[in-house]
Amino acid sequence: MKKIQMVDLKGQYEQIKERIDASILDVIQSTAFINGPEVHSFQKELEEYLSVKHVIPCANGTDALQIAMMGLGLQPGDEVITADFTFAATVEVIALLQLTPVLVDVDPTSFNIDPEAIRKAITPKTKAIVPVHLFGQPANMDVIMDIANEHNLFVIEDNAQGIGANYHFKNGTVTKTGAIGHVASTSFFPSKNLGCYGDGGAIFTNDDDLAHIIRGVVNHGMYKRYHHDVVGVNSRLDSIQATVLRAKLPNLDTYNNARREAAKKYNAALAGQENIITPEIIGTDDTHVFHQYTLRIKNIDRDALAKHLNDNNIPCGVYYPIPLHSQKAYQDTRYNESDFPITNQLVKEVISLPMHTELDNEQINYITQTVIDFVSKSVVI
Ligand SMILES: *Cc1c(COP(=O)(O)O)cnc(C)c1O
Repeated sequence: MKKIQMVDLKGQYEQIKERIDASILDVIQSTAFINGPEVHSFQKELEEYLSVKHVIPCANGTDALQIAMMGLGLQPGDEVITADFTFAATVEVIALLQLTPVLVDVDPTSFNIDPEAIRKAITPKTKAIVPVHLFGQPANMDVIMDIANEHNLFVIEDNAQGIGANYHFKNGTVTKTGAIGHVASTSFFPSKNLGCYGDGGAIFTNDDDLAHIIRGVVNHGMYKRYHHDVVGVNSRLDSIQATVLRAKLPNLDTYNNARREAAKKYNAALAGQENIITPEIIGTDDTHVFHQYTLRIKNIDRDALAKHLNDNNIPCGVYYPIPLHSQKAYQDTRYNESDFPITNQLVKEVISLPMHTELDNEQINYITQTVIDFVSKSVVI
Protein backbone atom coordinates (compact mmCIF):
# COMPACT_ATOMS: atom_id res chain seq x y z
CA MET A 1 0.00 0.00 0.00
CA LYS A 2 1.16 3.53 -0.79
CA LYS A 3 2.07 5.59 2.28
CA ILE A 4 -1.06 7.43 3.45
CA GLN A 5 -0.82 11.20 3.59
CA MET A 6 -3.28 13.75 4.96
CA VAL A 7 -2.83 15.70 1.74
CA ASP A 8 -0.97 14.22 -1.25
CA LEU A 9 0.08 16.89 -3.75
CA LYS A 10 2.55 14.73 -5.65
CA GLY A 11 0.09 12.69 -7.71
CA GLN A 12 -1.62 15.80 -9.07
CA TYR A 13 1.75 17.30 -9.95
CA GLU A 14 2.85 14.20 -11.80
CA GLN A 15 -0.26 14.26 -14.00
CA ILE A 16 0.39 17.83 -15.17
CA LYS A 17 4.15 17.94 -14.67
CA GLU A 18 5.03 18.73 -18.27
CA ARG A 19 2.76 21.74 -18.45
CA ILE A 20 3.71 23.00 -14.99
CA ASP A 21 7.45 22.65 -15.51
CA ALA A 22 7.35 24.30 -18.93
CA SER A 23 5.12 27.17 -17.86
CA ILE A 24 7.17 27.93 -14.73
CA LEU A 25 10.28 28.07 -16.92
CA ASP A 26 8.44 30.38 -19.32
CA VAL A 27 7.62 32.76 -16.48
CA ILE A 28 11.25 32.77 -15.38
CA GLN A 29 12.44 33.43 -18.90
CA SER A 30 9.85 36.17 -19.41
CA THR A 31 10.94 37.81 -16.10
CA ALA A 32 7.33 39.06 -15.73
CA PHE A 33 7.26 37.83 -12.15
CA ILE A 34 4.66 40.27 -10.84
CA ASN A 35 1.39 41.22 -12.55
CA GLY A 36 2.46 39.38 -15.68
CA PRO A 37 0.15 38.05 -18.39
CA GLU A 38 -0.25 34.74 -16.52
CA VAL A 39 -1.94 36.53 -13.60
CA HIS A 40 -4.29 38.33 -15.96
CA SER A 41 -5.16 35.13 -17.85
CA PHE A 42 -5.78 33.23 -14.63
CA GLN A 43 -8.04 36.00 -13.39
CA LYS A 44 -10.13 35.83 -16.59
CA GLU A 45 -10.30 32.03 -16.52
CA LEU A 46 -11.41 31.97 -12.90
CA GLU A 47 -14.06 34.65 -13.58
CA GLU A 48 -15.42 32.41 -16.31
CA TYR A 49 -15.32 29.25 -14.19
CA LEU A 50 -17.16 30.90 -11.31
CA SER A 51 -19.45 33.03 -13.49
CA VAL A 52 -18.46 36.03 -11.42
CA LYS A 53 -17.76 39.46 -12.93
CA HIS A 54 -14.56 40.27 -11.07
CA VAL A 55 -11.72 38.21 -9.64
CA ILE A 56 -8.98 40.24 -7.95
CA PRO A 57 -5.95 38.07 -7.19
CA CYS A 58 -3.98 38.74 -4.01
CA ALA A 59 -1.28 37.21 -1.82
CA ASN A 60 -3.27 34.77 0.35
CA GLY A 61 -6.72 33.97 1.68
CA THR A 62 -6.30 35.95 4.88
CA ASP A 63 -5.40 39.09 2.93
CA ALA A 64 -8.38 38.42 0.67
CA LEU A 65 -10.73 38.59 3.67
CA GLN A 66 -9.09 41.72 5.03
CA ILE A 67 -9.14 43.46 1.65
CA ALA A 68 -12.80 42.55 1.11
CA MET A 69 -13.66 44.22 4.43
CA MET A 70 -11.51 47.27 3.63
CA GLY A 71 -13.16 47.54 0.22
CA LEU A 72 -16.60 47.57 1.80
CA GLY A 73 -15.53 50.53 3.92
CA LEU A 74 -16.28 48.87 7.25
CA GLN A 75 -15.32 51.19 10.12
CA PRO A 76 -13.89 50.56 13.60
CA GLY A 77 -16.68 49.50 15.93
CA ASP A 78 -18.83 47.97 13.18
CA GLU A 79 -19.97 44.50 14.21
CA VAL A 80 -19.25 41.56 11.95
CA ILE A 81 -20.95 38.25 12.63
CA THR A 82 -19.09 35.02 11.89
CA ALA A 83 -18.92 31.40 12.99
CA ASP A 84 -17.34 30.26 16.27
CA PHE A 85 -16.26 27.00 14.64
CA THR A 86 -13.77 27.83 11.89
CA PHE A 87 -10.15 28.69 11.15
CA ALA A 88 -8.96 31.80 13.01
CA ALA A 89 -8.18 33.85 9.87
CA THR A 90 -11.78 35.00 9.63
CA VAL A 91 -11.99 36.52 13.11
CA GLU A 92 -8.37 37.68 12.99
CA VAL A 93 -8.87 40.15 10.15
CA ILE A 94 -12.07 41.47 11.72
CA ALA A 95 -10.11 42.23 14.89
CA LEU A 96 -7.11 43.64 12.99
CA LEU A 97 -9.34 46.20 11.29
CA GLN A 98 -10.71 47.14 14.73
CA LEU A 99 -14.12 45.90 13.74
CA THR A 100 -15.98 43.98 16.44
CA PRO A 101 -16.17 40.24 15.85
CA VAL A 102 -19.44 38.67 16.95
CA LEU A 103 -19.04 34.91 17.08
CA VAL A 104 -22.13 32.74 16.84
CA ASP A 105 -22.85 29.03 17.05
CA VAL A 106 -23.04 26.58 14.15
CA ASP A 107 -25.34 23.88 12.84
CA PRO A 108 -24.38 20.36 13.99
CA THR A 109 -25.10 18.70 10.63
CA SER A 110 -23.38 21.06 8.20
CA PHE A 111 -20.85 22.49 10.71
CA ASN A 112 -21.76 25.88 9.19
CA ILE A 113 -22.95 29.12 10.77
CA ASP A 114 -26.49 28.80 12.14
CA PRO A 115 -28.79 31.38 10.51
CA GLU A 116 -30.98 31.55 13.62
CA ALA A 117 -27.92 32.41 15.71
CA ILE A 118 -27.11 35.17 13.19
CA ARG A 119 -30.59 36.62 13.62
CA LYS A 120 -30.23 36.71 17.39
CA ALA A 121 -26.84 38.44 17.20
CA ILE A 122 -27.93 41.35 15.02
CA THR A 123 -27.75 44.80 16.66
CA PRO A 124 -27.94 48.34 15.20
CA LYS A 125 -24.12 48.17 14.85
CA THR A 126 -24.08 45.01 12.74
CA LYS A 127 -22.68 45.69 9.27
CA ALA A 128 -21.68 42.34 7.81
CA ILE A 129 -21.99 38.57 8.01
CA VAL A 130 -19.09 36.27 7.10
CA PRO A 131 -20.32 32.74 6.38
CA VAL A 132 -17.50 30.22 5.92
CA HIS A 133 -18.24 27.27 3.62
CA LEU A 134 -16.60 24.96 6.09
CA PHE A 135 -14.95 21.72 4.95
CA GLY A 136 -16.29 22.40 1.43
CA GLN A 137 -20.02 22.49 2.13
CA PRO A 138 -21.86 25.75 1.44
CA ALA A 139 -23.47 27.59 4.35
CA ASN A 140 -27.24 28.13 4.20
CA MET A 141 -27.00 31.04 1.76
CA ASP A 142 -30.74 31.15 1.00
CA VAL A 143 -31.50 32.23 4.55
CA ILE A 144 -28.28 34.20 5.08
CA MET A 145 -28.97 36.38 2.02
CA ASP A 146 -32.55 36.91 3.21
CA ILE A 147 -31.34 38.03 6.64
CA ALA A 148 -28.76 40.32 5.01
CA ASN A 149 -31.37 41.90 2.76
CA GLU A 150 -33.81 42.39 5.63
CA HIS A 151 -31.20 44.14 7.77
CA ASN A 152 -29.17 45.81 5.03
CA LEU A 153 -25.97 43.89 5.81
CA PHE A 154 -23.04 42.90 3.63
CA VAL A 155 -22.31 39.23 3.09
CA ILE A 156 -18.65 38.28 2.72
CA GLU A 157 -18.28 34.61 1.80
CA ASP A 158 -15.12 32.95 3.08
CA ASN A 159 -14.76 30.45 0.25
CA ALA A 160 -11.24 29.24 1.14
CA GLN A 161 -12.52 25.68 1.63
CA GLY A 162 -15.40 25.70 -0.85
CA ILE A 163 -14.05 26.52 -4.29
CA GLY A 164 -15.98 24.71 -7.02
CA ALA A 165 -19.03 23.93 -4.88
CA ASN A 166 -22.45 24.62 -6.37
CA TYR A 167 -25.15 26.21 -4.26
CA HIS A 168 -28.73 25.36 -5.18
CA PHE A 169 -31.12 28.11 -4.16
CA LYS A 170 -34.68 27.16 -3.24
CA ASN A 171 -35.90 28.94 -6.38
CA GLY A 172 -33.82 26.57 -8.52
CA THR A 173 -30.92 28.92 -9.33
CA VAL A 174 -27.52 27.26 -9.11
CA THR A 175 -24.54 29.49 -8.27
CA LYS A 176 -20.92 28.70 -7.46
CA THR A 177 -19.98 29.55 -3.89
CA GLY A 178 -18.05 32.79 -3.86
CA ALA A 179 -20.41 34.35 -6.39
CA ILE A 180 -23.38 34.66 -4.01
CA GLY A 181 -22.57 37.32 -1.41
CA HIS A 182 -21.56 40.94 -2.03
CA VAL A 183 -17.95 39.85 -2.02
CA ALA A 184 -16.01 36.65 -1.35
CA SER A 185 -12.50 35.53 -0.55
CA THR A 186 -10.56 32.39 -1.31
CA SER A 187 -7.14 30.90 -0.63
CA PHE A 188 -4.82 29.04 -2.98
CA PHE A 189 -2.73 27.60 -0.15
CA PRO A 190 -1.23 24.34 -1.51
CA SER A 191 -3.58 22.03 0.41
CA LYS A 192 -6.78 23.85 -0.60
CA ASN A 193 -8.96 22.30 -3.32
CA LEU A 194 -7.36 24.66 -5.86
CA GLY A 195 -3.86 25.11 -4.49
CA CYS A 196 -0.75 26.74 -5.91
CA TYR A 197 2.90 26.04 -5.03
CA GLY A 198 3.24 28.75 -2.43
CA ASP A 199 0.79 31.35 -1.16
CA GLY A 200 -2.06 32.87 -3.11
CA GLY A 201 -5.59 34.15 -2.76
CA ALA A 202 -8.33 36.09 -4.49
CA ILE A 203 -11.35 38.28 -3.92
CA PHE A 204 -14.51 37.87 -6.01
CA THR A 205 -17.38 40.25 -6.59
CA ASN A 206 -20.12 41.01 -9.09
CA ASP A 207 -20.13 44.69 -8.07
CA ASP A 208 -18.20 46.88 -10.55
CA ASP A 209 -17.67 49.76 -8.11
CA LEU A 210 -16.48 47.50 -5.32
CA ALA A 211 -14.11 45.71 -7.74
CA HIS A 212 -12.61 49.07 -8.71
CA ILE A 213 -12.11 50.04 -5.06
CA ILE A 214 -10.53 46.67 -4.25
CA ARG A 215 -8.11 46.84 -7.20
CA GLY A 216 -6.74 49.99 -5.61
CA VAL A 217 -6.71 48.61 -2.08
CA VAL A 218 -4.52 45.63 -3.08
CA ASN A 219 -2.07 48.05 -4.70
CA HIS A 220 -1.23 50.57 -1.93
CA GLY A 221 -4.48 52.46 -2.42
CA MET A 222 -3.35 53.65 -5.87
CA TYR A 223 -5.79 54.26 -8.69
CA LYS A 224 -3.30 56.40 -10.59
CA ARG A 225 0.43 55.75 -10.27
CA TYR A 226 1.84 57.41 -7.10
CA HIS A 227 -1.54 58.91 -6.20
CA HIS A 228 -2.67 57.21 -2.98
CA ASP A 229 -6.37 57.88 -2.53
CA VAL A 230 -7.09 55.38 0.24
CA VAL A 231 -4.99 53.45 2.72
CA GLY A 232 -4.22 50.19 0.99
CA VAL A 233 -2.01 47.16 1.34
CA ASN A 234 0.48 45.37 -0.86
CA SER A 235 -1.01 42.01 -1.76
CA ARG A 236 -0.19 40.27 -5.03
CA LEU A 237 -0.43 36.86 -6.60
CA ASP A 238 2.85 36.23 -8.40
CA SER A 239 3.12 34.95 -11.96
CA ILE A 240 4.64 31.58 -11.01
CA GLN A 241 1.67 30.83 -8.74
CA ALA A 242 -0.74 32.05 -11.42
CA THR A 243 0.74 29.71 -14.02
CA VAL A 244 0.40 26.75 -11.63
CA LEU A 245 -3.22 27.71 -10.98
CA ARG A 246 -3.90 28.00 -14.73
CA ALA A 247 -2.65 24.44 -15.17
CA LYS A 248 -4.86 23.16 -12.34
CA LEU A 249 -8.09 25.12 -12.86
CA PRO A 250 -9.27 23.03 -15.86
CA ASN A 251 -9.00 19.96 -13.57
CA LEU A 252 -10.75 21.46 -10.54
CA ASP A 253 -14.06 19.69 -11.18
CA THR A 254 -12.22 16.39 -11.66
CA TYR A 255 -10.29 16.98 -8.44
CA ASN A 256 -13.49 17.79 -6.53
CA ASN A 257 -15.17 14.68 -7.96
CA ALA A 258 -12.26 12.55 -6.76
CA ARG A 259 -12.74 13.99 -3.26
CA ARG A 260 -16.47 13.27 -3.41
CA GLU A 261 -15.83 9.70 -4.52
CA ALA A 262 -13.43 9.17 -1.62
CA ALA A 263 -16.02 10.65 0.77
CA LYS A 264 -18.70 8.31 -0.57
CA LYS A 265 -16.46 5.30 -0.01
CA TYR A 266 -15.64 6.45 3.52
CA ASN A 267 -19.35 7.01 4.22
CA ALA A 268 -20.32 3.59 2.87
CA ALA A 269 -17.63 1.79 4.88
CA LEU A 270 -18.45 3.62 8.12
CA ALA A 271 -22.25 3.51 7.78
CA GLY A 272 -24.05 1.85 10.67
CA GLN A 273 -21.27 2.42 13.23
CA GLU A 274 -23.27 3.55 16.20
CA ASN A 275 -20.61 5.87 17.66
CA ILE A 276 -19.68 7.54 14.39
CA ILE A 277 -21.60 10.28 12.62
CA THR A 278 -20.45 10.49 9.00
CA PRO A 279 -20.66 13.81 7.13
CA GLU A 280 -23.98 14.55 5.49
CA ILE A 281 -24.33 16.29 2.15
CA ILE A 282 -27.20 18.74 2.34
CA GLY A 283 -28.87 18.69 -1.06
CA THR A 284 -27.34 17.23 -4.21
CA ASP A 285 -23.83 15.79 -4.50
CA ASP A 286 -22.32 18.75 -6.32
CA THR A 287 -22.83 21.05 -3.34
CA HIS A 288 -19.99 19.56 -1.30
CA VAL A 289 -16.34 19.67 -2.39
CA PHE A 290 -14.96 17.86 0.70
CA HIS A 291 -12.03 20.06 1.56
CA GLN A 292 -12.06 17.93 4.69
CA TYR A 293 -13.78 14.64 5.47
CA THR A 294 -14.84 15.12 9.07
CA LEU A 295 -16.43 12.58 11.37
CA ARG A 296 -18.09 13.13 14.73
CA ILE A 297 -17.09 10.51 17.29
CA LYS A 298 -19.73 9.95 19.98
CA ASN A 299 -19.21 8.29 23.39
CA ILE A 300 -15.61 7.36 22.61
CA ASP A 301 -12.35 9.18 23.36
CA ARG A 302 -11.65 11.04 20.11
CA ASP A 303 -8.05 11.80 21.05
CA ALA A 304 -7.39 8.11 21.72
CA LEU A 305 -8.73 7.33 18.24
CA ALA A 306 -6.42 9.98 16.75
CA LYS A 307 -3.46 8.38 18.53
CA HIS A 308 -4.50 4.91 17.38
CA LEU A 309 -4.67 6.12 13.77
CA ASN A 310 -1.26 7.77 14.02
CA ASP A 311 0.19 4.61 15.57
CA ASN A 312 -1.08 2.78 12.49
CA ASN A 313 0.51 5.27 10.08
CA ILE A 314 -2.74 7.04 9.32
CA PRO A 315 -2.47 10.81 9.60
CA CYS A 316 -5.56 12.66 10.81
CA GLY A 317 -6.48 16.12 11.98
CA VAL A 318 -8.72 17.83 14.50
CA TYR A 319 -10.23 20.86 12.78
CA TYR A 320 -10.78 22.67 15.07
CA PRO A 321 -9.88 21.74 18.64
CA ILE A 322 -10.73 25.05 20.36
CA PRO A 323 -13.76 27.29 19.73
CA LEU A 324 -12.75 30.77 18.61
CA HIS A 325 -14.65 32.33 21.54
CA SER A 326 -12.31 30.42 23.92
CA GLN A 327 -9.10 31.54 22.19
CA LYS A 328 -7.13 34.02 24.32
CA ALA A 329 -7.01 36.58 21.52
CA TYR A 330 -10.76 36.57 20.94
CA GLN A 331 -12.31 36.16 24.38
CA ASP A 332 -15.04 38.69 25.10
CA THR A 333 -17.08 39.20 28.26
CA ARG A 334 -20.22 39.47 26.12
CA TYR A 335 -20.08 35.75 25.36
CA ASN A 336 -21.71 33.07 27.51
CA GLU A 337 -20.83 29.40 27.19
CA SER A 338 -24.54 28.75 26.72
CA ASP A 339 -24.34 30.70 23.43
CA PHE A 340 -22.16 27.97 21.89
CA PRO A 341 -23.54 24.51 22.77
CA ILE A 342 -22.85 23.03 19.32
CA THR A 343 -19.32 24.37 18.85
CA ASN A 344 -18.41 23.32 22.39
CA GLN A 345 -19.58 19.81 21.54
CA LEU A 346 -18.03 19.61 18.05
CA VAL A 347 -14.53 20.54 19.23
CA LYS A 348 -14.56 17.38 21.37
CA GLU A 349 -16.03 15.08 18.70
CA VAL A 350 -14.56 15.99 15.31
CA ILE A 351 -11.78 14.16 13.56
CA SER A 352 -10.81 14.59 9.91
CA LEU A 353 -9.49 11.62 7.93
CA PRO A 354 -7.02 11.91 5.02
CA MET A 355 -8.70 13.68 2.11
CA HIS A 356 -7.16 14.47 -1.25
CA THR A 357 -7.44 13.49 -4.90
CA GLU A 358 -5.05 10.53 -4.80
CA LEU A 359 -6.68 8.20 -2.23
CA ASP A 360 -7.10 4.66 -3.53
CA ASN A 361 -9.45 1.88 -2.44
CA GLU A 362 -6.76 -0.02 -0.59
CA GLN A 363 -5.95 3.03 1.52
CA ILE A 364 -9.60 3.85 2.19
CA ASN A 365 -10.30 0.25 3.25
CA TYR A 366 -7.29 0.23 5.55
CA ILE A 367 -8.25 3.59 7.11
CA THR A 368 -11.91 2.71 7.67
CA GLN A 369 -11.08 -0.77 8.98
CA THR A 370 -8.61 0.77 11.46
CA VAL A 371 -11.28 3.23 12.64
CA ILE A 372 -13.89 0.47 12.99
CA ASP A 373 -11.50 -1.84 14.87
CA PHE A 374 -10.82 0.92 17.36
CA VAL A 375 -14.40 2.08 17.95
CA SER A 376 -15.74 -1.46 18.24
CA LYS A 377 -13.16 -2.32 20.94
CA SER A 378 -13.38 0.97 22.81
CA VAL A 379 -15.03 1.46 26.13
CA VAL A 380 -17.99 3.75 25.75
CA ILE A 381 -17.57 6.92 27.85
C1 LIG B 1 -7.09 28.57 4.63
C2 LIG B 1 -8.16 29.43 5.13
C3 LIG B 1 -8.03 30.82 5.21
C4 LIG B 1 -6.73 31.55 5.01
O1 LIG B 1 -6.07 31.33 3.84
P1 LIG B 1 -4.49 31.61 3.74
O2 LIG B 1 -4.21 31.56 2.28
O3 LIG B 1 -3.79 30.54 4.51
O4 LIG B 1 -4.24 32.97 4.31
C5 LIG B 1 -9.13 31.57 5.61
N1 LIG B 1 -10.29 30.99 5.92
C6 LIG B 1 -10.45 29.65 5.88
C7 LIG B 1 -11.77 29.07 6.24
C8 LIG B 1 -9.39 28.84 5.49
O5 LIG B 1 -9.56 27.50 5.47
